[in-house]
Amino acid sequence: MPMPPNYVDLHCHLDLYPDFMSAVQDAERAAVYTLTMTTTPKAWPRNREVTEATHYVRAALGLHPQLVHERAHEISLWDQYLPEARYVGEVGIDAGPRYYRSLDLQKEVFVHVLQGCARHGDKILSVHSVRSAKLVLDLIELHLSPSKGKVVLHWFSGSASEAQRAIDLGCYFSINSEMMLNERGRRLVATLPIDRVFTETDGPFTRVNERTACPSDIVQTVETIAGVRKSSMENVKSDIVHNLRMLLEPRIS
Ligand code: MN
Repeated sequence: MPMPPNYVDLHCHLDLYPDFMSAVQDAERAAVYTLTMTTTPKAWPRNREVTEATHYVRAALGLHPQLVHERAHEISLWDQYLPEARYVGEVGIDAGPRYYRSLDLQKEVFVHVLQGCARHGDKILSVHSVRSAKLVLDLIELHLSPSKGKVVLHWFSGSASEAQRAIDLGCYFSINSEMMLNERGRRLVATLPIDRVFTETDGPFTRVNERTACPSDIVQTVETIAGVRKSSMENVKSDIVHNLRMLLEPRIS
């Protein structure tokens, strides 16, 4: 970390905003350490190039589970770029009704991703687990031990016992504002160990103040987390920046 950031947006999609560059500038100006996902490895070269000289914005190499049904073959391109990527995402499983048909293929791709990350070591993954928390955790447990890579569960919506299992497996959680609109999400945020908590916008797929959320809106997410946890905004803010420092530390193994 060159200069300590003010905030952290560990999961968003800056290249899906109408103006990619101005979304990057928003994060830079607000000093929000931002992990921008790619949904297909074809987007990697451009994302890498755009984030090469930024202080706070980093790109992640992904193959989105919702695109696997038509893009599974791009996994060979993902393999090709993996050596130059420290961050991996968006990856994972979506077992919701729209994507259920590609579940077997998604599983195959996700296992491949986990095994590739384990082989290279020291990767940080942002993982999607819609209606598939148990399956995702089973696969992480089998294929990516905490000494080989770190997993951040993005927009986690599993049960309390699944959350506990994820904690036991060494996973982190990135929390967005929309997760805290329901009681289940608030309960998760209230009970997670603070050293596993990160913030995310998942922009441009979330809204704040009736417009598309962007990384500088993380300040409101931190405020909401502080309210839910009955903590102060300053404490949550500094805990998350501390967690980022721990997350980015390379593992020697
Ligand atoms: Mn996403």
